Amino acid sequence: MNTSDTYTPWTQEYRPETRAAQGDGWRSPTTGAVPPPISLGATYARDADYRAPAGLAYLRDQGTPGYEQAEQVVAGLEGGSDALLFSSGMAAATAVFQVLPAGARVVVPQTMYFGLTKWLREFGPQRGLEVVQVPMNDLDAVAAAVDAAPTALVWAESPANPTWLVTDLAGCAEIAHRAGALFGVDNTVPTPVHARPFDLGADLIMHSGTKYLNGHTDVVAGLLVKAPQRTEARDAIWERLQLHRRLTGPILGPLETYLLVRGIRTLYPRMRQISATAMAVAEHFAAHPLIRRVAYPGLPTDPGHEIAARQMTGGFSGMLSLHVDGPWQQSLRTANHCELFIRATSLGGVESLVEHRYTFEGPDSTSPKDMLRLSIGLESPADLVADLEQALEKAVKEDR
Ligand SMILES: *Cc1c(COP(=O)(O)O)cnc(C)c1O
Repeated sequence: MNTSDTYTPWTQEYRPETRAAQGDGWRSPTTGAVPPPISLGATYARDADYRAPAGLAYLRDQGTPGYEQAEQVVAGLEGGSDALLFSSGMAAATAVFQVLPAGARVVVPQTMYFGLTKWLREFGPQRGLEVVQVPMNDLDAVAAAVDAAPTALVWAESPANPTWLVTDLAGCAEIAHRAGALFGVDNTVPTPVHARPFDLGADLIMHSGTKYLNGHTDVVAGLLVKAPQRTEARDAIWERLQLHRRLTGPILGPLETYLLVRGIRTLYPRMRQISATAMAVAEHFAAHPLIRRVAYPGLPTDPGHEIAARQMTGGFSGMLSLHVDGPWQQSLRTANHCELFIRATSLGGVESLVEHRYTFEGPDSTSPKDMLRLSIGLESPADLVADLEQALEKAVKEDR
């Protein structure tokens, strides 16, 4: 794509936070506007010689110049070679499974994002996929599953939603590659600020851009990123993914693409503060009489802490779960008494959210009933702790 209208490449290699803050330096040389223009065309005119002046023909085929910026920035933050923007995280994740050949065997976590588990259950077998679920935090179980039969793809998420189990990504990559399988990682929760799965051997990274990348609870978006070094298998699946997006159309609108990049500009300071606050909240409730257990990989007592500390940098992200003591209804009542935490699903925004996953997920749920999932935002840690304290107290009183 010819993007000279909106982009003058930097002549230096800058660090990720610099690339995020300035959106890789995209702006409009024609007007001087610091943020790049939003290009709303769905179709693009040809010149008198029937040439497309900027190499653009149709939005579903090539996207807009805004796509190139978003894809280049996220690929850069992850240390990847290319990225593809999608209409949602689920569109990005399911694209990977949809372009595998019929009959492909995939090894996926028992605990991962609920929507992907549900899609694999509903549509996997129908498409001829053999879906093998394993406890991804147990490398022996992963190896046994992968070695049992030819496997096309191993998928991991760490820390894994909603229980924050930690997976040894380097260990999984080795198992996958030894067996000739591709290794895909959902890096939505750690973000490139705290984890760099390509350094640990991932072939593909997936993001729900809806969450921390955008960070402001006003966009649904997704991305796939391709590993830096080329291999035949990586090139082959990437070509299928490009074709899949072009021909099935899970594309993001130009306005949402702009908002996504605007959110990414503050990703680094947001993540640092969010992770520090999450740690403070986790520490406060780690030895609390009304809390049975806090699931947060940042706590030294967490079963995943050692691996998380090895493969994450600068913090452990903003997601944690409280297991409330007493009858399980007490956790739901605690959510109901929150005044500052917003009772809503999703995660990764500037506002803190609380969710009783079991109630939200319904009868298929594998979430523990006593569990409250917290997405920590940018509020004062003291206000967040005080809100949970008063909610817990009211929930206990109601039980008496
Ligand atoms: C939200 C989420 C997804 C799905 O993304 P959408 O943008 O909602 O489609 C996938 N993985 C994780 C870890 C998520 O939090």
